Amino acid sequence: MQDSDTIFDKILARQIPAAIVYEDNDVLAFKDIQPQAKIHVLVIPKRRATNLNDLKNQPASNLGAFMIGVAKAAEHLGLVEGGYRVVLNSGANAGQTVFYVHAHILGGEPLGTFGI
Ligand code: AMP
Repeated sequence: MQDSDTIFDKILARQIPAAIVYEDNDVLAFKDIQPQAKIHVLVIPKRRATNLNDLKNQPASNLGAFMIGVAKAAEHLGLVEGGYRVVLNSGANAGQTVFYVHAHILGGEPLGTFGI
């Protein structure tokens, strides 16, 4: 499989469907198919990277645009007042399964903590 053949590349290219909840020039946000919270949305940057360590090789403005896109998606979802969590799994120990960098937005209810 080529790096650029992930399921998120296909969602971005509109080759497979997704429940898109937010989009702007920099990011696409869609519902996770196996939600771990009342609201569980994934945000991907439109400029592809495999994970955070790959993204660091791009101009810093790309990472900035990605994070701003995450915050805009959370705002669009009405999560700012109640609060939300952002998770970014990078690599095997973190359990990354889709090798297109993505941020998980979790919210819509009180979330459990895991010591951090
Ligand atoms: P990660 O473990 O950080 O790589 O997370 C990948 C996430 O992608 C998981 O939470 C999956 O449930 C989710 N996922 C996989 N395929 C799809 C899909 N087609 N549409 C939406 N979410 C997906």
